[in-house]
Amino acid sequence: MRKKITLTLLVISLLTVAVFAVAIIGTLSYWYSNSSSIGFWTTPRKIYLSYSISSAGTAARNAATQWTNAGVSSSFVTSGSSMTFACYPYDTCVQLEPSIPTDAAGYTSSSTTYVGDFEYGSTYKRGYEVLGAFCYLITDVSTNYIGDCAHELGHAFGWMGHSTNSSDIMYAYANSPTTLTTRDKNHLNQVY
Ligand SMILES: [Zn+2]
Repeated sequence: MRKKITLTLLVISLLTVAVFAVAIIGTLSYWYSNSSSIGFWTTPRKIYLSYSISSAGTAARNAATQWTNAGVSSSFVTSGSSMTFACYPYDTCVQLEPSIPTDAAGYTSSSTTYVGDFEYGSTYKRGYEVLGAFCYLITDVSTNYIGDCAHELGHAFGWMGHSTNSSDIMYAYANSPTTLTTRDKNHLNQVY
């Protein structure tokens, strides 16, 4: 009888640990975001690109190449895409995505699922798998197509939140840089 009670308690305590323990899915070396979350894809980033201004399409391709060179690869496809990048004036974009603010130069919505925590020093960052994404470049608001495309692709690939350093592409506000900084790259590359 006594033995049986002990066994029962052991099972309950093991179940409690299983319920409350968070999966640790990796260790991070960098953190430049004002958010405590980061995302990553486990499937290929196959982008369907559409645009009405050719320089916007060129900018999206330039931005994707920069991320590929940073270790976060993607390709452009005409069918079988896993994400979309649309470059149009505000009136067109807001019909596709009503939650785009009027002053946005770009916008990204992603489908994600929480999969566990990354360790960063003595803290933890929430890790999300990205399942799909939809990026917009608002061509009549943006004054930096390449920088804004690189910023939205960063979000789509898992860069959550923003950098507080105005020289970074992942800074919250539209800025002039057109190339990813080491900080932009290191933050996301470490989860790929
Ligand atoms: Zn942003």
